[in-house]
Amino acid sequence: MSQPADDTTSGDEMPQPPDPEPTEPTTPTDPDPVPETPTGDAITWEPHTWYAITYACLTAGCPNQNVVGSAPMFYSNDGQTKNIRVIDSACNKQSKILTATKLNPQPEEE
Ligand SMILES: [Zn+2]
Repeated sequence: MSQPADDTTSGDEMPQPPDPEPTEPTTPTDPDPVPETPTGDAITWEPHTWYAITYACLTAGCPNQNVVGSAPMFYSNDGQTKNIRVIDSACNKQSKILTATKLNPQPEEE
C-alpha cells in the first residue's frame, strides 16, 4: 500500500504572505480624553460675567475633600483669578474651581 506523494506538502518552504504596511504599535492613536481636573489657570474668566461652575475642596482631612460641588450661578466679579474664589463651608479654605461654563444667556441684573 503506497500512497502517492502529495506535491502540495512535499516542500519545507511555507508560502510567505506579503508583508503588510509596517505599523508602529507604540504610537497611540486615540487622543487623550479631556482631563477631569484641569488647572485653575486654564479657566479664562470674563469680568462681570455669570458662570456655572464645579469645584472641589482639596484640603487634606476636610470632610469635603475631593467632593465635587457645583454652583449654577457664579459671578466672576472683575475677572481677576484672585477675586474669584469659592470658600468651602466645612474648612473655610479656598476650594479649587474645576470647570466654569459661561451662562448663555446671561441672567439679567436687577
Ligand atoms: Zn474643605
